[in-house]
Amino acid sequence: MTTLTTPQTHALRDQLLARKEQLLQELDAVQVAHRERMKSADSAPQDAYATQANQVAQNAVRDAEARRDHDELVAVRAALARIEDGSYGACQDCGADIGLPRLHAFPAALRCIGCQTKAEQAA
Ligand SMILES: [Zn+2]
Repeated sequence: MTTLTTPQTHALRDQLLARKEQLLQELDAVQVAHRERMKSADSAPQDAYATQANQVAQNAVRDAEARRDHDELVAVRAALARIEDGSYGACQDCGADIGLPRLHAFPAALRCIGCQTKAEQAA
C-alpha cells in the first residue's frame, strides 16, 4: 500500500491516459509519414541517390523518436495496469512510496528516486 489518496491516484491516472493518447497520436503520425515516404520513394527517380541518403538519415532520426515514444507507451500502460492492481506508487525495488512530487513529474515512474539513481548507475 502507498499513501496516495484516491483523488491523487485518479489525477495521476488521468495524466497517464492523456499521455497515452498523445503517444498513440505521435506513433500514428509516424506511421502515416512512413506510408507517405514509401509512396514517394516508389515514384522517385532512380538516380536521386543524394536525396535517398538524406531521407535515410531523416528516417533514422524519426525511427529513434518512434522507439522512444513506443518505450514510453509501454511504461505508461504498465503504470495504468499498476493503478488497476493497486501496486501503483510503490517503488518496485524497495517498496517505499515513490512520492507524489515525483509521480506528478513522471507518472510512469517505477522506482523511488534513490533506487532509480542506483539502477541508472548500475546500467
Ligand atoms: Zn526504492
